[in-house]
Amino acid sequence: MDERIKKSDAEWKAELDGMAYEVLRGKATEHAFTGDYWDCHDKGMYVCAGCGEPLFSSETKYESGTGWPSFYEPTSRASIETEVDAAHGMRRTEVHCRRCGGHLGHVFDDGPEPTGQRYCINSAALKLLKDKA
Ligand code: FE
Repeated sequence: MDERIKKSDAEWKAELDGMAYEVLRGKATEHAFTGDYWDCHDKGMYVCAGCGEPLFSSETKYESGTGWPSFYEPTSRASIETEVDAAHGMRRTEVHCRRCGGHLGHVFDDGPEPTGQRYCINSAALKLLKDKA
């Protein structure tokens, strides 16, 4: 699917709940150990809270100890985009939903096998569709 979603900031603000809006459209980061999914072990597909695009399967979720839901790979490389983020005096790689452009979190190179990557994602940017992994 290569159909991109374009909405005005006012439209996003009207349809997303507070934290989802702050994270997806304002690049906020939720506090560690506070989101709905960091300690969630249910099976299913995590989709974008902004547009419903499937992003991460529970099959690739693991215990990172960080307090944010962490995955070693996206369900499809085509569903995400990355961008260098030099904010806050750090050089990190930001992860976005390709379909709606929503900010999801960051990806780091200290993840487990088989990819060695750690997608550190805000719970507020995700919605778990149970039993759809
Ligand atoms: Fe999205």
